[in-house]
Amino acid sequence: MSENLNVFQIAQQQIKDACDKLNCKPEVYDILKQPLRFVEVTVPIKMDDGTTKIVTGYRSQHNDALGYYKGGLRFHPMVTADEAKALSMWMTFKSAVVGLPYGGAKGGVAVDPKELSKRELEQVSRGFVQAIASHIGPEKDIPAPDVNTNPQIMGWMMDEYSKIQGANNFGVVTGKPLSIGGSQGRLTATALGCCIVIREAIEKLGIDFKQARIAIQGFGNAGSNLSTILHDMGAKIVAVTDLHGGLYNPDGFNPYEVVKANETVQPKSEDSAVAKSPATKHITTEELFALDCDVLIPAALENQITGQNAGDVKAKILAEAANGPTTPEADKILNEKGVFILPDILASAGGVTVSYFEWVQNLQNYYWTAEEVNERLEQKMVAAFDNVYQVSQNSSVDMRSAAYMIGIKQLAEAMEARGWLD
Ligand code: NAD
Repeated sequence: MSENLNVFQIAQQQIKDACDKLNCKPEVYDILKQPLRFVEVTVPIKMDDGTTKIVTGYRSQHNDALGYYKGGLRFHPMVTADEAKALSMWMTFKSAVVGLPYGGAKGGVAVDPKELSKRELEQVSRGFVQAIASHIGPEKDIPAPDVNTNPQIMGWMMDEYSKIQGANNFGVVTGKPLSIGGSQGRLTATALGCCIVIREAIEKLGIDFKQARIAIQGFGNAGSNLSTILHDMGAKIVAVTDLHGGLYNPDGFNPYEVVKANETVQPKSEDSAVAKSPATKHITTEELFALDCDVLIPAALENQITGQNAGDVKAKILAEAANGPTTPEADKILNEKGVFILPDILASAGGVTVSYFEWVQNLQNYYWTAEEVNERLEQKMVAAFDNVYQVSQNSSVDMRSAAYMIGIKQLAEAMEARGWLD
């Protein structure tokens, strides 16, 4: 298996493996191996100094056999067409695994938001929506936040789309501020969903939750909320890293202090509280991956655990809060070592689940309490974990293969029913 596959080829391979395991008709893979629609746009931005900056944006709509397209938008200098395609493919399977009536989409703009003023960032957000407006909508494709995008950006996008349509349209994006149709619980949803499946896996493996030692790569929306929720649930956070550094305390530390200290760090700074907070030892991400711990959580970007470092992993559980953090070669090594993997399409599905709840609330104009949202999230995540675990046990396959098999079955059935096959 080549380690040189890009993320798009990795996503294709994962789908192909599951189609082969299920002996699917060849047309199933032929449809699923690429997005049904891919849009690339060029957006001119008026900068504060009067110059014009040209940025490129993408929206990949993978498959809508099961429902409207749904998936995040990323603002990052490394955003590429292949990345958007791969992430949209994973979204199709994520929604299917949790049982949401959605297809998969993803997109983003190749830009570094840290280099932009607030006004310039708003220009990028509004300009991108103008460019893709005919392809999105509450009954077409519903974007959401991802890496470097947040409720404020979703608010601008909803406002721009509403202006284009000439009417308020809250349901066009999710992850919005509460004052304009956001949902209770959305900010913490990805992390909470991941914590729920970690709790279920810990129970299955017979580990004492209160003694569980947790290491997390990434301290953004997913990683920082994971650290505080798991801390509240009684587990020990022993290590975190971000782009600027990492800290390790074998006896555990209070992540709230790091979250609070991070709030004072300037957005453009090359520093972070993760790199500066008191620690027994300051560590790198490579050291974090090799730590003796119970649960390792990659919560940063793709392709972090590879054929080069997977052999060093000592964790009993790998919980993929990030999308695509493990390469196929690493996946093979980890499975051979007996690491219990909670695959991204299950472990990071909490965000899209509460995005679905947000969209449902927008369509009904009737809003739920945080308790109602979190209770429904709990039900969805536990049911999805049980389903994937059962298939993995019954078919003697790992959790990732089981999750893909569940997705492929639903998609094949829906595509057959629509008359797309034969
Ligand atoms: P974010 O931008 O809020 O945070 C990313 C974090 O990763 C930052 O702390 C950054 O410093 C860190 N990071 C980046 N590169 C790193 C590296 N090489 N080593 C260590 N740390 C590094 O992004 P997020 O929203 O938390 O998303 C993180 C992951 O979770 C992504 O894969 C994203 O697709 C996935 N995800 C997010 C959501 C969501 O609702 N936000 C939902 C599902 C999946």
